[in-house]
Amino acid sequence: MLDRLRALERLTRPEHPDLTAALAARWEELPAHVKGANQMLGRRTAGCEGTHGVFPKCNLACTPCYHAKEAQRVRTDGEHTRVEVTAQMAFLRGVRGPGQNAQLIGGEVSLLEPDDHAAALRAMLDHGRKPMSMTHGDFDYPYLEALALDPETGRPRFSHLSFAGHFDSMMFGRRGIKKVEREEQLHPYRKAFCEMFARLEEEHGVTSYLAHNMTITPRNIDQIPEVLRACRDYGFRMFSFQPAAFVGNEARWKDSYRAFSTDAVWARIEEGAGGELHDDAMLIGDKRCNRTAYGAYVGQRYVPLLDQRSSADARWLEAFLTTFGGMDFADGRALTAARTVRALVENPATLARLAGWGARFAARAGGPVALARDRPRAITYVMHSFMDAKTVRPAWAAMERGETTHEDPDVQATIERLRSCSYAMAHPEDGRTVPACAQHSVLDPLENVALMALLPAHENVAEPATA
Ligand code: SF4
Repeated sequence: MLDRLRALERLTRPEHPDLTAALAARWEELPAHVKGANQMLGRRTAGCEGTHGVFPKCNLACTPCYHAKEAQRVRTDGEHTRVEVTAQMAFLRGVRGPGQNAQLIGGEVSLLEPDDHAAALRAMLDHGRKPMSMTHGDFDYPYLEALALDPETGRPRFSHLSFAGHFDSMMFGRRGIKKVEREEQLHPYRKAFCEMFARLEEEHGVTSYLAHNMTITPRNIDQIPEVLRACRDYGFRMFSFQPAAFVGNEARWKDSYRAFSTDAVWARIEEGAGGELHDDAMLIGDKRCNRTAYGAYVGQRYVPLLDQRSSADARWLEAFLTTFGGMDFADGRALTAARTVRALVENPATLARLAGWGARFAARAGGPVALARDRPRAITYVMHSFMDAKTVRPAWAAMERGETTHEDPDVQATIERLRSCSYAMAHPEDGRTVPACAQHSVLDPLENVALMALLPAHENVAEPATA
């Protein structure tokens, strides 16, 4: 009886004790320059995670491509994927606690057989991750249906799926449009991608969360506003932009990627979003790496979740973090309700702050009438700026020697960002996680050479022709 009560007490804690320990450890490691009141790393989240070396090959070509050129010579092997994903996720659960977002990423996920893809997602869920499959989106509804449904029973094996579809004009080889001149030519493909998931929900009740990823170079930066205006209502809940970096396959570096600043990209995103994006309200790691703006459309108006200039919103954020910490609000209704009640009983003043925030959000949205007329549609805008391999390599080498300073200011900045990294990849064999930048710039090439020997591609895979 006592054991059951203890288990219940643990289960209904707002923040799982393993996550509490992981967050405290992450906060301790963070450099001082990112430890502001608006920092989410180490307080709300341990950060995002991604798989590596689990299915390196892709059947499209991107310029740039962040994967080492050897990746194309590794065959996609379902058994290898299952074993490696399970090992990486088990490690992440051990060191980062439950409830963290993890990307099933590598080459192209839809080259996996549906059952292997499903097994990888199941392993991620079983280890307390929130999986998101990263894809170019060039697959058909039967593949999605086969992934979502149990082949034995024909019933859903997942109640919910998360996918990020990567669509941009720097990709070559998509069926129906091998070469893209302008982003607008891809709109029918973006729309069809969303429609597949809408159909899945309609026919089988499987809900989804869809993100849209886009690499930004001098060729398409000015097309960002049009893409956002055209695609905002397709069904994507997140639009994520990655200014191109010189990393991965050098044969795919086509442009002067430093011809514009990340500020210029963010300005185009704001223009397309149709409203100011409050990326200083909450930070995830270092702002030079990540900018995130949370908000919702009420009619045509984009309403920020938090106003970055409002001291009342800042106090509400502090109260929220103190009360709920890293609590997972998507862990089932009953558990979420029990944890919420418990958190609020321990911090009753938070209720008044919640009411105050609700009133401010409603005012920003145009008042209760506007909210009643137009149900808010949450959309998140993200910019993630990977770093160039030429600075990551010396920075990572210095960090491996235990150094946190460097005489070269660019390398110094890179060290600061790597130490604040919010996107980790697991290395159970070494008992550590590494930043994705270090993975792609330093570790991927060697890893893929080993995989080429282990899983040689059956066919002779040529580099896809690009512009
Ligand atoms: S260090 Fe690299 S992988 Fe980590 S958050 Fe910054 S840009 Fe992203």
